[in-house]
Order: sequence, then C-alpha cells, then structure tokens
Amino acid sequence: MSLAPGREALDVSWDFEWWNTGSFEARGFFSHLQAGWAKAEHRAHVGWLELSGKKVLFDAGYAPRFHDCAAPRLAAVYRWATPATIPAGSSVRERLAGRQVDHLLLSHWHADHTGGLLDIPEASVWRPFSSHEAVRQEALSACAPLKGILVGQFPDDLPGRPGASFSARLRDVEAAPLMALPVGRWPFLSVLDGSCRDVFGDGSLATVDLPGHALGHYGALFQTQLAGRPVLVLLCGDAVWDERELTAEWTRGPAALFGFHSLSEAAKTTRLLRRLCAAAKACGMERDLYVLPTHCRLAANRFVADGGRE
Ligand SMILES: [Zn+2]
Repeated sequence: MSLAPGREALDVSWDFEWWNTGSFEARGFFSHLQAGWAKAEHRAHVGWLELSGKKVLFDAGYAPRFHDCAAPRLAAVYRWATPATIPAGSSVRERLAGRQVDHLLLSHWHADHTGGLLDIPEASVWRPFSSHEAVRQEALSACAPLKGILVGQFPDDLPGRPGASFSARLRDVEAAPLMALPVGRWPFLSVLDGSCRDVFGDGSLATVDLPGHALGHYGALFQTQLAGRPVLVLLCGDAVWDERELTAEWTRGPAALFGFHSLSEAAKTTRLLRRLCAAAKACGMERDLYVLPTHCRLAANRFVADGGRE
C-alpha cells in the first residue's frame, strides 16, 4: 500500500480511546524530584485505535495475571515497588469484549505494558528487530524482574525464538519506510523529521523512535477528532512519565535508575519531545498536539476534558 495521489500523511482520523488498565501509587519523589513526598498515581494506559475496520492497540497495559507473575522471588520486589491496583473490567481482555486486534504496537517489553499480551494471540506485534536478541537475553536473565520484565506475561516462545509461533506474528518496525511528515499543515512536526516510520504503508500512522527508557522503545503518532476538530496525538509510552517533564522541566527521580536502558539516550529523547511541544506552542498550535505519556494522569484527564474518550 502507498499514499494515494494528492493525499498527505496523517490526514485521516482514527477513532481513538485512551484506556486506563490500572495504576499504582508511590511517593512522588521516587519518580520525579519535584513531586515531593505526597503519593502520586501512576496509571497504565493503552491506546485503542480503529480505522476502516483495522483495529490497533498501543501497548497491552496491566492485566490481573500481573499479580501471579509477580509473586515469586525477585518478581516480588517488582510487585512491591509497583503495587498495582487493577479494577475489574479495566484490562485489555475485558475492554475488548471479544473484539479481535489486528496489530499491537508494543512500545517496549516492561510488565506494565505487556499484561494483556496473552489475551490477543491473533495480533501482529510490531517491534524493532535490531533490539530483539538483546531483549530476549534480558528477558531470560535471572534479573529480568529488576529490569521491569515479567516473562510469565509473555507467550512461551517470546520474545521471538526463531521458528516458534510467536515469531511469525512479529513485524519489524525498522523495515517500514520513513514517513514524510505533513509539515505544511503541522509545521512543528519538522522536529520529528527522520524518526517516523509508515508502519501500515498508508500514511495513516507513524511510529516514532523514542529511545532510552528501554531497548527499541518507540511511540505512535496519528490524527484523531477531538470535539469535532482534527488534532494530532503522540502516544509517547515511557519516553516521559509525566507531562510536566515536557512543560515544567520536571526531572526523573531515583526510580529512573532501575530498568532504564540508557539514561543519556532517555535525556536526549526528553529534549526532543520538549522541542516538539515548544515548536507547537511557537506556531500557536499547542492545542493541535496531545502528547500522552502512558502513565500520566494529568495528560489523560486533560485529553478527556477536551473531548477525548477513555
Ligand atoms: Zn511503564
């Protein structure tokens, strides 16, 4: 598939909902130095997208199996550090209610993003293959839970043992062509030039390289309608944990020392997203761009207050 003549990328609107699959509370200071000692809620959102019958999930969030997988040994440390509450009816399996998923855009393998992976065995799973062997080794190591990985949430042959059934479902993000972004319409997108890929080959959605938090970490950029007007949404996964990292220059606390693949790459990615938000503001288009971090309650609430669905 390719872009039809006369069309430009990101000019169709996806139906989009931002589901909250559960959350945990921790002292704010641990995640952000400026958040103080008060408890902060960290949600695990997933994106549900639908366009012309194509059904896509961005991440798989929490699912009740998190509690079982997190029970033994080192995994108990992870559960203690992120004591998740997963309300009835909030997991991907329950929200889908039997609907099939065509594609899973998996930002990274951490446990709060892969809880529902086993509940969508039909979906193609999009990952950058260059990081795959390293992720597999990480997942197999005894220290995996300390890096945020709970293999009990994965299919038996995950991630991607050659020849096994899950491998057949994997799709390589990096094999998709770079996307020419519609900078005439949304000038601030020039900040992301060279980091977006046209995974579905029709210009409707771009994956965005956002490295640092985890190996091969990426986000998704697309257009949707908000209260009757087209806006761009960037699901940025864990590139930042809170939108105040983008606007108020909040900085990460000690929790960032655990599980991060590269703190320097993560800092670079944060600066990229800050430049993007600043550019949107400079164009007078800050209301045209919604950057939604997976765990940010404030950003989700603002999106819903402006007409978004959850
Ligand atoms: Zn996360």
